[in-house]
Amino acid sequence: MNLKTWISFSLACGLFFSCADEKKESQEKKPEVAEKKTDHVVEQFADLRVLRYQIPGWENLTLKEQKLVYYLTQAGLSGRDIMWDQNYRHNLAIREALEHIYTTYQGDKSSKDWKAFEVYLKRVWFSNGIHHHYSNDKIMPGFEKAYFDKLLDETGTVLDRTIAEVLFNDADAKKVNLDASKGLIKGSAVNFYGPGISDDEVDAFYAKMKSPDPAKPLSFGLNSKLVREDGKLVEKVWKSGGMYGAAIDEIIGWLEKAQEVAENEKQGKALGLLIGYYRSGDLQKWDDYNVAWTEATEGNIDYINSFIEVYNDPKGYRGSYESIVQIKDFEMSAKMEVLAHHAQWFEDHAPLMPEHKKENVVGVSYKTVIVAGEAGDASPSTPIGVNLPNANWIRTAHGSKSVSLGNIIEAYNNAGSGDRLKEFVNDKEELELARAYGQLGGKLHTALHEVIGHASGKLNPGVGETKETLKNYASTLEEGRADLVGLYFIMDPKIQELGLVDDYRKVAMAEYDGYIRNGLLTQLIRLEPGKDVEEAHMRNRQWVSAWVYEKGKKDNVIEQVKRNGMTYYNINDYDKLRELFGQLLRETQRIKSEGDYEAAKALVEGYGVKVDQDIHREVLERNKAFKSASYSGFVNPVLVPETDEAGEITAIRVTQPESFEQQMLWYSENYGFLPVEN
Ligand SMILES: [Zn+2]
Repeated sequence: MNLKTWISFSLACGLFFSCADEKKESQEKKPEVAEKKTDHVVEQFADLRVLRYQIPGWENLTLKEQKLVYYLTQAGLSGRDIMWDQNYRHNLAIREALEHIYTTYQGDKSSKDWKAFEVYLKRVWFSNGIHHHYSNDKIMPGFEKAYFDKLLDETGTVLDRTIAEVLFNDADAKKVNLDASKGLIKGSAVNFYGPGISDDEVDAFYAKMKSPDPAKPLSFGLNSKLVREDGKLVEKVWKSGGMYGAAIDEIIGWLEKAQEVAENEKQGKALGLLIGYYRSGDLQKWDDYNVAWTEATEGNIDYINSFIEVYNDPKGYRGSYESIVQIKDFEMSAKMEVLAHHAQWFEDHAPLMPEHKKENVVGVSYKTVIVAGEAGDASPSTPIGVNLPNANWIRTAHGSKSVSLGNIIEAYNNAGSGDRLKEFVNDKEELELARAYGQLGGKLHTALHEVIGHASGKLNPGVGETKETLKNYASTLEEGRADLVGLYFIMDPKIQELGLVDDYRKVAMAEYDGYIRNGLLTQLIRLEPGKDVEEAHMRNRQWVSAWVYEKGKKDNVIEQVKRNGMTYYNINDYDKLRELFGQLLRETQRIKSEGDYEAAKALVEGYGVKVDQDIHREVLERNKAFKSASYSGFVNPVLVPETDEAGEITAIRVTQPESFEQQMLWYSENYGFLPVEN
């Protein structure tokens, strides 16, 4: 699970007001990084903002550790084009054409049309394809088809006519469609299923697959495209020699180098298993790898590299390619280990039905890490926290690794906008609470969500994995459940007892204010007028907020305030609100434990999808005053190895890219290992 979209919090409610001490400390640790490039915002266009992040503490790593980081980032980038092709079957052809125009066009570059072309290309780069990375809607160019034809013509760029038309017509309008009435697969442009394959056929195909050990279900469908060949459904497996083989071979090459400089035996073993999985495509090896990776906790360097999150598959089987390379942040990790250490206390005190509680919460680990490089699904738009592996049985038997991406959060923090917060808070008290405790509350809620939330609760015996039982509602239900665990416990004196905060009530109040404000108001800035809420995390924040608002109405727990035609929410009773969070948590866990699809549907459709049109209009109007873009993403620092005469690496420097477009073009040129059609 990732927390990519939790970021909207920061935009809306200013959770990341910078803490002066922390800032100073990290600045002291990064003397030579990015000479002049210390401003955080690289560029802003459309609804997007590109930031940069630093790698504090790089110089404290040994050369061997730096090499490991370098090899892993190279492995990550080598698979970049996989994500493009997964997102849409014509993305690579379109990117090649757009980049050819961009780099060779000799005509008028001051015209409105050319500017619109540049913005369009940047938006496509940002989203790893022609569909918006968050809304999933096809990005419509701000120029006419005739102008595009002219550009193609004048630059001698070749692009299939039908593909060029797709940029401007209604075809393939949505990357991931979760409205079952339109057909989940039929309505989705994502490149995971061949033409004409129905939802029912996919269900039937995977219903037949049996794992050798039913207690350890394999992740069927995770690493392949399902196509019809000679009338029969077959998987085109993503592996060396298979689909995406050319890129996967490059990944393998870098992973082999990484294995040579592994920090310890366990880490080396895990890398070996990952290589074996990429070679064979064998899903048993994938599980073996995940177990080994989960147990390799000793090193200072860690990484994610493979087909992981299934949010982009409307059927929830296929993983998007992703890579994140991480360096341990020792200081923050120590604090968070405190939470993990007391996981059983939280499970015992959770407001769950007794039969849904785990007797032994196993191996919860949480770390704040420093990101050194990202690729695929994690770039340019990045998660701020990751909790893996995803397979429930591995999580139960072997635990999981949960990390918060510290330097990414700090970069958001420093580029954050406080003016929007001012606009949407109900009163001065709320503003001051947010400024004083919002950042800490956000960090703590993330930690609780990841460490305690995703680890908590168990399925009833015989109930299948949630993707089978709760289907398209599985992701949003799980994210909401983890959020609720965090919301419930953040107002527990235990948090203070553990030494994590000085005043737990104020921290919790700031967090409750921020959550409700975001769930009922400010996250709507990311939604186009008239649209339903679709994205899993956005849905969960709305169904959690709307449910407690409605259930607390008779006691006026949360009050809707109208002032000068503007809408605000004021929390009158924080303790009652906590009780309501507890009740909803209990119910959400019951739904998960029993696999109650109808209840999940009623909850999500009833509270998480539809938007009050008047409030939405109002929020969009109020938001116009703020320049800050709705979504942020990052360029990656560039790791530059220095070599001696024998070609041995003697040092690795961290630099920053010149610009967003420079990095994107560099990536296409140096990591473009796939043909335009796969
Ligand atoms: Zn989560």
